[in-house]
Amino acid sequence: MGMGQTPTIAVIGRGLIGSAAARHLAVSGYAPTVIGPGEPLDKRTHHGVFASHYDEGRITRKNATDAYWAEASIASITRYADIEAASGISFFSPVGALMAGDSDGAFMASARAVAASLGVSHKDLDRNGAECQFPDLSLPDNWAVLWEDAESGHISPRRLVAAQTRLAKDAGARFLDAAVSGLDVKATGVDVTVGRDVLTFDRVLVAAGGMTDHVLGRDLKYKVCARTVALFEIDEDHAARLGYLPSLVMGTPEGHYLLPPIRYPDGKSYMKLGGDPDDILLTSAQDIGDWFRSGGRADVRDDQEARFRALFPGVSVRSVAMDACMTTWTDDLRPEIAALSDRLFVAGAGNGAGAKCSDELGRRGAALVMNSIEKG
Ligand SMILES: Cc1cc2nc3c(=O)[nH]c(=O)nc-3n(C[C@H](O)[C@H](O)[C@H](O)COP(=O)(O)OP(=O)(O)OC[C@H]3O[C@@H](n4cnc5c(N)ncnc54)[C@H](O)[C@@H]3O)c2cc1C
Repeated sequence: MGMGQTPTIAVIGRGLIGSAAARHLAVSGYAPTVIGPGEPLDKRTHHGVFASHYDEGRITRKNATDAYWAEASIASITRYADIEAASGISFFSPVGALMAGDSDGAFMASARAVAASLGVSHKDLDRNGAECQFPDLSLPDNWAVLWEDAESGHISPRRLVAAQTRLAKDAGARFLDAAVSGLDVKATGVDVTVGRDVLTFDRVLVAAGGMTDHVLGRDLKYKVCARTVALFEIDEDHAARLGYLPSLVMGTPEGHYLLPPIRYPDGKSYMKLGGDPDDILLTSAQDIGDWFRSGGRADVRDDQEARFRALFPGVSVRSVAMDACMTTWTDDLRPEIAALSDRLFVAGAGNGAGAKCSDELGRRGAALVMNSIEKG
């Protein structure tokens, strides 16, 4: 970079965190080049890279069992309305959110402590109180819920990426629809291989989700886990009646969670339940591809269906489908937002919770890059 020239920045990955980082860089005047492929047309036959946001529902809530996540979520949720208004793309359904579990267990104790310490507005309901408020919901004995009834619910991850992308483009970001196959940090810049081209940038931020270790070409740092979700098709009139239901996160060993009825691109409404009994690790790009192409695990879907029917005994289900996804974890259960060198940065590892707070995680990644430039 010569004197007076604007430094060139690439963001690798245009998922939830990458598109957020791109917006923050672009509105700060650093027109980044954002490199990454879009969603595969058919996951069952796709042989390129995969990502964790190809869906219509991600739970969003301010509270968490760890204050780190609550603070990042509060910062993001506070900006949702501005992102929606400026982009003209709505992605947030503020239906409310529940954290539920054994009233005397560690999950609820942590949730209560974080809510109290950060002043997250909520109602603490015992099982009877929760079932009166949400008559379709049937909870296990001795469960309680923390009910956030404001500025929480669910977001469409696809539409959030679209909103961030539109605003980043409006502010000068350039998008390349391609996968990166090589990265080489040199004294004078970072060489990024895209197809047959090698592009050189002053700074590179990698935000490639479950593919981050492979894009960086480093030893595996993240634990990438195969995840199955069950989708319950609900009749339209029934779905409208169930529209009052909030999102639900449960303190079970499997980490169950539930999305209320959401309309999907096939025009049908589905409730979605996730939570896996074990961690199948995906250690290579090939493993990740094979997992997505498999479409999920039928035994996990069956357990999820049993859990769903116990929670919603009166809800009639038209059909049950499943889908495959991946979550990306670190040892300390926090995202990795770090400088790997003077030129190379990373913002990754959503630890199963990175959608709701992706705008803040992307902002923090972008801030690291911009600070390194401003320091010279
Ligand atoms: C089933 C499931 C349910 C979840 N539920 C929730 C929830 O309720 N609430 C919540 O907050 N979070 C939830 N999450 C987590 C959330 O979706 C992730 O934390 C989030 O998607 C992480 O964002 P990301 O940008 O790091 O990765 P992604 O969204 O996966 O994006 C990664 C991007 O990198 C790109 N990429 C990959 N390889 C390359 C390459 N070689 N070159 C260029 N680009 C590349 C991909 O194409 C993609 O665009 C859930 C995840 C799953 C799987």
